[in-house]
Amino acid sequence: MNRLLKRLINRHLSKYDDHQEIKDFIDGIENILEQQKEERVFMDRTLTLSSNEFNEINASLKENLAKNKKNQLYLEKLIAKQNALFDASTEAIFSFNPDNVIEKLNQAAIDFLNLDAKVINSGEVLTCDLFMDRLVNLEDFSKDIQVIRDNELAEVHGFFDTVDQRTYEFYSVPEVIDGDLFGRVWCCRDITDVRKNEALLKHQANHDALTDLPNRSLILDVLNHAIKMGQRHNSKVGLLFIDLDDFKKINDTAGHQEGDRYLIEFANRIQSSLKSGDIIGRLGGDEFVVILEDITEISHVIKIIERILKLCKVPFYIKDKKYYMSCSIGVSLSPEDSISSEELIRKADMAMYQAKGAGKNTYHFFDKELDKIALNSVLIDGQLREAIKEDNFVLHYQPKICLKDNSLCGVEALIRWQKTPNELVYPDDFINIAEKNGLIRDITNWLLSKACQTLKQWEGTSLANISMSLNISAIDFADPLFIEQVFQVIDDHKINSALLEFELTESSFFNDIKSVQEKITKLKSKNIKLAIDDFGTGFSSFAYLRDMELDFLKIDKSFVLGMHDDEKSKAIVKSIIDVGINLGFKVVSEGIESQSIMELLAKEGCHIGQGYHMSRPITEALLFQFAHDILDNE
Ligand code: C2E
Ligand code: CA
Ligand code: CA
Repeated sequence: MNRLLKRLINRHLSKYDDHQEIKDFIDGIENILEQQKEERVFMDRTLTLSSNEFNEINASLKENLAKNKKNQLYLEKLIAKQNALFDASTEAIFSFNPDNVIEKLNQAAIDFLNLDAKVINSGEVLTCDLFMDRLVNLEDFSKDIQVIRDNELAEVHGFFDTVDQRTYEFYSVPEVIDGDLFGRVWCCRDITDVRKNEALLKHQANHDALTDLPNRSLILDVLNHAIKMGQRHNSKVGLLFIDLDDFKKINDTAGHQEGDRYLIEFANRIQSSLKSGDIIGRLGGDEFVVILEDITEISHVIKIIERILKLCKVPFYIKDKKYYMSCSIGVSLSPEDSISSEELIRKADMAMYQAKGAGKNTYHFFDKELDKIALNSVLIDGQLREAIKEDNFVLHYQPKICLKDNSLCGVEALIRWQKTPNELVYPDDFINIAEKNGLIRDITNWLLSKACQTLKQWEGTSLANISMSLNISAIDFADPLFIEQVFQVIDDHKINSALLEFELTESSFFNDIKSVQEKITKLKSKNIKLAIDDFGTGFSSFAYLRDMELDFLKIDKSFVLGMHDDEKSKAIVKSIIDVGINLGFKVVSEGIESQSIMELLAKEGCHIGQGYHMSRPITEALLFQFAHDILDNE
């Protein structure tokens, strides 16, 4: 209690000193006052404490506020960024609320819906109907998005087409917070051009660039399908393998551009002779195929082929020059020939070769016997490669006799394949195959070396100065490296090249005339002699007989063999001898099998004879014997 107040009370109450009650009362007041004092001190302390705490909280709040502001700025930036992205996206993006009302959409989406800016700004409610109105094939779309109806949190990806014939790819993703759906976003990308490009690439991979016809790979697919359908419906599939005759000539004489035009025109002509379901394709070069489905009668196939061959008869003009298209067609049928598309093509191809062999501009059905021969040729192909590696060839020699004095004037070297020590294979059984598979070059190489080596060995023997003729395939003669190869071998063996004679068939002269003539001139520069072999069986054009610098004309043995009992053959042989002599050739007859024919030929003026009557082709040892015998007889 305040000391002044206490002293004042004590002074005034001193007279009631003994009054205990008042004393107690004063003590009580004093106590209360004392208590109040303590409370005030406590309050003071509490107040000081609270104020500190408040300051602290205040500071923390301030700090939080600053942080929040930063966060808010960050979020605002993020939203602005996302909005920019959203607007810049070329994909149409829609955000729907759970009631299927469009809440947000970007510019691409506005364009997609064909909406006016006014509508957007008017605040009009944009429902999902606006979106659905743009779509076609709603049933397909509805199927695609059934998942969403089953599960509102599902993500969906799919495609739809629009009324303006565009194709879109879409993604639909739910908007979810803590498992609660609050909307759905749709992103729609226009893939029309992508699809078009894909289709274009696919088309290019399956079509030939020049004619735009299906190429081999597509043809195989279509053919496979046709074969399966044929089996199911019990009908046949016909496959035509069509090869232009002498297309190379067009290309060589008129140039590739005209050649291309020719191919396109040819393809169009075939196309126009087919009905809508039939398919034509180009395998490459001048080879085409036609797939004929649903064939019940073979006559139907023949009718189409005849239509094609007839259309070829219409002339085709290249720079005012008239050309006639002609083609050879091979036919195979499924199921009888095969139910494999590759096999069917192979067999039609083989039949086409038969059509070529039958004089071109015609057709031929696949023939099983032919197939056996072809399979055999595959077998021979492998063995022949082996034979070349192993050097399993020998030469036999057939003497050529000068008909004026029966002297030995030369030999024809004829190759044989020594397949096993006891088995000789004759050239007719392997040269064709070697010409087709390219092995002929190796064989001719062997022939040239062997011939030169032999001529060298004969120097200083009874066979010295005997000329040796070699059969050169048209393929070898066409090879630009052939002449060099010949000169090289001659140099290597250092032989007298005037003893070499090349027998060429007429087909060797059909290539580019200028280059043929150049080759002939080069060979002549080394004194190598040249003969036309098998004369009378090919085109027997007199033009090259006149223009080319050749030495011998060899009448084909079929005419000479026929002279026995066929007057016509006799007449032909006589005329060939006359023509040959008049054009300055030395005429050679092969295939002389009797004394009478030999005498007859000699009488007609034929210079040289060759045949079984004088000698069959024989080994080198027997040839020496033959030469001695002749000398003994002289
Ligand atoms: P080619 O050039 O017409 O050769 C003549 C063929 O007629 C030879 O058959 C020969 O044996 C046969 N011959 C000869 N005289 C008579 C006869 O009086 N009567 C009968 N019926 N036939 C006779 P070869 O040796 O089987 O040769 C067949 C063909 O193979 C040759 O026909 C030739 O075109 C080709 N050839 C042979 N050797 C080679 C070669 O080394 N290279 C090339 N590319 N072809 C060759
Ligand atoms: Ca010959
Ligand atoms: Ca011949």
